Amino acid sequence: MQKTLIQSDYNLKANNTFGIEVQAKKYTEITDEDDFKSLIEDGVLLKDERLILGGGSNVLFTKNFDGIVIKNNIKGIELLGENDDHVFVQAGAGETWHDFVLYCIDKGWYGIENLSLIPGNVGASPMQNIGAYGVEVKDVFHELEAVHISSGETHYFNKSSCEFGYRESVFKMDMKNQYLISSVSFRLSKKPNFSVEYGAIKQELDKMKVSELTAKDISNAVINIRSSKLPNPKVLGNAGSFFKNPVIDETTFHQVKGAHENLVAYPAGEGKMKLAAGWLIDQAGWKGKVVGKCGVHDLQALVLVNHGGATGQEIYDLSSEVLQSVKEKFGVELEREVNIY
Ligand code: FAD
Ligand code: NAP
Repeated sequence: MQKTLIQSDYNLKANNTFGIEVQAKKYTEITDEDDFKSLIEDGVLLKDERLILGGGSNVLFTKNFDGIVIKNNIKGIELLGENDDHVFVQAGAGETWHDFVLYCIDKGWYGIENLSLIPGNVGASPMQNIGAYGVEVKDVFHELEAVHISSGETHYFNKSSCEFGYRESVFKMDMKNQYLISSVSFRLSKKPNFSVEYGAIKQELDKMKVSELTAKDISNAVINIRSSKLPNPKVLGNAGSFFKNPVIDETTFHQVKGAHENLVAYPAGEGKMKLAAGWLIDQAGWKGKVVGKCGVHDLQALVLVNHGGATGQEIYDLSSEVLQSVKEKFGVELEREVNIY
């Protein structure tokens, strides 16, 4: 029996951080797995194209969504178990990621402090293996529970079955659009093992004059850095980095470096180098550029922004122009990180 309210012609503007004005043919919200299973049993999800949505901070709508959008509001945080060194904590997919980070810091559980202030919900965190300042979700991931949409069965995925990669997982590849992630559990440390080598964190901690380092200090440092250079989606529509940092083989790296000696790159595993896509886009002349109602952010060229009233198609077209010019200047192909609908 259907117990969730399904709305028609629903305006998604408040459900995507780009602030794109589009409509979903149908829209519903779920608060537990049973809500979702009843949608499956009633055949609602088989008839229509479907999209599971969390905070909408990694999507770009280029047109009205001709199907059903299911907003995941499954809440709850539970301590599953612990040993001398670790806790195993589970969070509902609809929990706000940053609130969960603060909750764990408050409890004295370490491991996700570097991932402070990433917008969106817990359920999306394994989707692209969210990462920042040298830490990725895969580093602390334990298991996730998901409902298989076509069978209605509950399945469990451990770390290896998620096939995590750089801003990647099986849920963006082979299993795309096949599962609703309902909860995620993490293995967090009871003892501090801080990661502060990355980027500006050390500098910020120095500025904050921290004497005895805590997870809260790291979280505050990350919040300060992020707030100083990333646009707040409530003020300026965006979905964070629009492109991934390209990972290329060493031979190609040496070719590009030969032609562009200031190329910014980092080792990315055996024989691989990761290029800073923001630097490539900046060098191609895009940083701060305004094109119609959208543009490239003036403090971080990886971020495309909606200056107000842009359509998703206009932002997508801008991203194609950026891709093309980086390809022409450096011979390097950028890949979009944001999910396009
Ligand atoms: P949504 O945008 O709602 O969904 C993203 C994708 O996941 C969609 O394909 C959706 O269908 C799918 N999905 C969502 N929830 C579920 C579920 N429960 N089950 C199945 N599928 C689901 N990302 C980083 O990795 N690192 C960063 O540092 C970072 N910084 C950002 C900064 C800003 C200012 C912004 C706007 C974005 C940033 N992002 C970053 C991107 C984004 O915040 C993350 O990808 C986040 O995990 C998206 O969460 P969400 O709930 O908003 O997902
Ligand atoms: P930054 O510190 O200016 O660094 C630029 C790029 O260089 C980053 O993309 C980062 O790669 C890489 N980098 C810097 N120091 C590195 C190191 N010591 N080792 C390996 N790689 C290094 O980047 P930023 O734009 O201010 O972002 C800071 C962090 O937040 C980054 O980790 C970034 O991924 C994350 N972030 C992500 C999004 C998103 O939407 N995905 C949005 C904003 C910020 P990595 O990206 O691989 O870390």
